[in-house]
Amino acid sequence: MFHAKEYVKAESLEQAYELNQKRSNVLVGGMMWLKMSSGNRNTVIDISGLGLNQIEETEDEFRIGCMCSLRDLELHEGLNRYFDGAFRECTRWIVGTQFRNGATVGGSIFGRFGFSDILTCMMVLDTYVELYKGGTVSLEEFAQMKYSRDILVRIIIKKDGRKAAYVSQRRSKTDFPLIAVAAAKKEDMWYISVGARPSKAALVSRPVQTGCEISDQAKEAVSLFSFGSNLRGSADYRKSLAEIYVRRLMEQLSGEEA
Ligand SMILES: Cc1cc2nc3c(=O)[nH]c(=O)nc-3n(C[C@H](O)[C@H](O)[C@H](O)COP(=O)(O)OP(=O)(O)OC[C@H]3O[C@@H](n4cnc5c(N)ncnc54)[C@H](O)[C@@H]3O)c2cc1C
Repeated sequence: MFHAKEYVKAESLEQAYELNQKRSNVLVGGMMWLKMSSGNRNTVIDISGLGLNQIEETEDEFRIGCMCSLRDLELHEGLNRYFDGAFRECTRWIVGTQFRNGATVGGSIFGRFGFSDILTCMMVLDTYVELYKGGTVSLEEFAQMKYSRDILVRIIIKKDGRKAAYVSQRRSKTDFPLIAVAAAKKEDMWYISVGARPSKAALVSRPVQTGCEISDQAKEAVSLFSFGSNLRGSADYRKSLAEIYVRRLMEQLSGEEA
């Protein structure tokens, strides 16, 4: 657990941003990840009083405040209806209910963790990250950006008609994923994301090839990702799992028997 001298409950994003420019200060989401770190900090910046814990649904998009919890994603009716339960599936294996009530969407996306189920799932949707100073950027671009001291204010997911599905495999329930796979389909395009490779989720977009076996399309998509080894599994094992899961998700989204 880290130690801090001061605690400030920010009254505005500008105040939080100014405080966050000091390297000795730390902005916190749910603090579930940060509390595992050690060392001394000057000021903890808490943005929980800024009304950023809402998921708003409009005709065109979902607007998810950075302080929404993973449990909010898991239970949100609109998100799960529109994306066929993908948010329930990508959250429900993360540690436990109490944990998901604490961990935030902002902390999960800002962290860009290799094992992130949330990053993998959101990557296949038409998703944007709203940064306080940096403006709005696509999630794909944000995932590649260097860490900065900006504030992730909200996530925006467009309702562009994509159908989505998600699956992960863990060596034991509630462990970090060994592989995480999301797929989405819109008209004649596939969007495939593979996370926990063990590096962070990346996106591959491919045209739907009519007359080509789904298993071949899945193999081709997976060949565009790189895989590595760690204590949870080897690169070869991850690659073969990814081929199986991408095929199953493609079949599911095409309405075929998996
Ligand atoms: C034991 C454990 C197991 C986990 N297992 C999984 C898993 O299986 N799958 C999975 O997807 N995730 C997993 N996670 C990660 C978890 O789901 C959260 O992503 C993580 O805890 C970060 O969210 P937080 O709210 O706790 O962020 P914090 O710990 O508060 O912050 C994390 C980082 O993000 C920064 N930050 C937070 N909010 C913002 C913001 N709005 N703007 C800018 N910077 C911000 C902080 O400064 C810090 O650097 C696990 C975490 C732990 C501790």
